[in-house]
Amino acid sequence: MKLEHIGIAVKNLEQSNTLFETLFNSKHYKVEEVESEGVKTSFFQVGESKIELLEATNPDSPIAKFIDKKGEGIHHLAFEVEDIDYEIDRLTKEGFQLIHQTPKDGADNKRIAFLHPKSTNSVLVELCQDKG
Ligand code: ZN
Repeated sequence: MKLEHIGIAVKNLEQSNTLFETLFNSKHYKVEEVESEGVKTSFFQVGESKIELLEATNPDSPIAKFIDKKGEGIHHLAFEVEDIDYEIDRLTKEGFQLIHQTPKDGADNKRIAFLHPKSTNSVLVELCQDKG
């Protein structure tokens, strides 16, 4: 596994894009809406990893709920795997609680699945695999 990206929940994507562009001294390379998740995302390449900013597109979005509860900030860590189906199976057998038992389409041309933070020391973990 390698750290693919860190997801950060923000209230205002446009403002945060400007902020992180100044911080990294580079522009975000894409903006993408994932309707099924109720989020609009933008991506920054930072060295070998990426930063994903996430803004809620409706009040029922998991990002809206997260910000209501905890405020803006680090939302999840995403690890790239070679075979997401295998990893879901392996981690389920190891006793981890998966939010998605079957991978779903995520942003940035990936299949993704989240682990429940209950089973990972309260860190929301995303597994992702490039669709190629
Ligand atoms: Zn992510």
